[in-house]
Amino acid sequence: MGRSVATLPSVLVVLVCAACAGREPRAPSPDAAVDAGDAHAVSPSDVASSADDADDARAPDAAPPDAWTTFGASVEGRPLRRLDVGHGPRRVLWIGGIHGNEPEGSVATAELPRALAAAGLLERVTLTLVEDLDPDGRARGTRGNAHGVDLNRDFPARNASRRTREPLSQPESRALAELVDALRPELVFVAHSWGGDPRDVREFVNPDGPAHDLAELFAAQAPAYELVESSEISPTPGSLGSWLGVDLGLPVLTIEYPRGADPSRCWDDTRAAILACLAAFASGT
Ligand SMILES: [Zn+2]
Repeated sequence: MGRSVATLPSVLVVLVCAACAGREPRAPSPDAAVDAGDAHAVSPSDVASSADDADDARAPDAAPPDAWTTFGASVEGRPLRRLDVGHGPRRVLWIGGIHGNEPEGSVATAELPRALAAAGLLERVTLTLVEDLDPDGRARGTRGNAHGVDLNRDFPARNASRRTREPLSQPESRALAELVDALRPELVFVAHSWGGDPRDVREFVNPDGPAHDLAELFAAQAPAYELVESSEISPTPGSLGSWLGVDLGLPVLTIEYPRGADPSRCWDDTRAAILACLAAFASGT
């Protein structure tokens, strides 16, 4: 019998969204300007297809684009997809999006398999990518799923509100909880974007659990991304960071991309930081 998620002692979670969590940072960054006109969503399959024309540029050990598999389904029946890359001893989970109106991490999700290979990390890390936990919201352009539920408020954290519903009320959040239980990741990254208030569009990295050192490393490698502690922003009851990071003591990094930014730019700006965190984690430093 496998251990339940509730007893996981070693999951490391890196979340790529704190603002989407409804938390408000204290001091807006002066670098918050975003060229919203460049914004567009790119699916991993789109990027993989374009890469088919440039096989020479693909690392030989990179997972083929058709290796995506389904681990669940959304309210409206859209597949929830995952891709496993590498075969190293350190288990990492990357969640490419959890709010439907935040596609900024889509290129990072698509490019990470090749980047992991190019960085020589395939033997050191097993990285599971979740393409998008809220495909219904992505299709609608809404923060919540097809039921209007914010999935990042639907996890069984101690601080979850139970006034309207019990945690794990949605098929998407249940599927992710089952995936976490099966994978037992030691590090988790979650991609979000910050900018619900157009006057406060910004980028930062937010650690939960024992992820402060990794967040410092991230911010050092991605200078535009400051480190924002959870104590500096509003509480996020029922969030993935609250559950896995705060309650279960796993390192979780939430990456907040600037809302509306070109996903390719988001990847370019954070690629070195993400890979540095993966390398440091693989080395146990
Ligand atoms: Zn978000």
